[in-house]
Amino acid sequence: MNSWKCKKCGYQLEAETPPETCPSCKEKCEFLDNTCYTPDCGQTGKDPRIG
Ligand SMILES: [Zn+2]
Repeated sequence: MNSWKCKKCGYQLEAETPPETCPSCKEKCEFLDNTCYTPDCGQTGKDPRIG
């Protein structure tokens, strides 16, 4: 599972792929992948540098 953050409003969700329409904006937004891939982001599942 990946973690995604809406570039526009900051809405975060977990999914394999980002939704086409942001549930918060109700628009087609660009989603940033803020999934934690390395141990240096604190093992929280999300990268604090992004999300
Ligand atoms: Zn949004």
